[in-house]
Amino acid sequence: MSRRYFIAGNWKMNKTSSEAAALAQGVVEAVGNVSNVDIAICPTFTSLETVEKIIEGSNVKLGAQNMHFEKSGAFTGEISAAMLRELHCAYVILGHSERRQYFKECDCLINKKVKAAVASSLKPILCVGETLEEREANKTIEVVSTQTKGGLDGLTAEEALKVVIAYEPVWAIGTGKTATPAMAQEVHAEIRKVLAGMFGENVAEKIQILYGGSMKPENADELLAQKDIDGGLIGGAALKADSFAALVNSAV
Ligand code: PEP
Repeated sequence: MSRRYFIAGNWKMNKTSSEAAALAQGVVEAVGNVSNVDIAICPTFTSLETVEKIIEGSNVKLGAQNMHFEKSGAFTGEISAAMLRELHCAYVILGHSERRQYFKECDCLINKKVKAAVASSLKPILCVGETLEEREANKTIEVVSTQTKGGLDGLTAEEALKVVIAYEPVWAIGTGKTATPAMAQEVHAEIRKVLAGMFGENVAEKIQILYGGSMKPENADELLAQKDIDGGLIGGAALKADSFAALVNSAV
């Protein structure tokens, strides 16, 4: 496969700065020298600077979990792309299902964020995924295609190459239920088709599509063996350095 594997940890609203420092230290010690896998950890905003100092010089990159699309201004409580870049973030998770569900983020808003991130040289990790109701109503492909098209609307092919997609079935996030490798592969292949339709086959073949949803060391090998699964966006299993390292090692 020409695409590199990418393992990204989404720490969500977990870890104070001192706890984040300890976890980041553990991650660097365990996988900081791995060179053939892209690795990122995404702590809370308040821990970014602390974590950055720890991972500096290693193969572990920094990511944020959200951002605003405007450059600056009267947006109380928000963070801009430039603020994240100044803290040396390389990635930003956008459109996570928890943002869509609890903060009512829609494709149109997420698309503005994707564009603002790309314009600031931050790589968006654009999350897409269906709820249990949508899967049971046979709407998985429709939902995921709409979210992918909506999130990437208006991007050029060159810009699309700077985006990572994460397929995260909502029913699998934090629940211990994982999509079977075949279920995940089917959706990943459909996402790649959507990307090919938007940006051409060559570009689609180069874009990393991660799986997320209760991925852990026990199920990673099978998921990562699928043709269109290029890594994982990891929640719970990223909160311990040894399990995150085991996931990275599955991708080595
Ligand atoms: C996530 O929230 O991005 C995620 C994949 O969580 P978990 O691994 O805990 O299911």
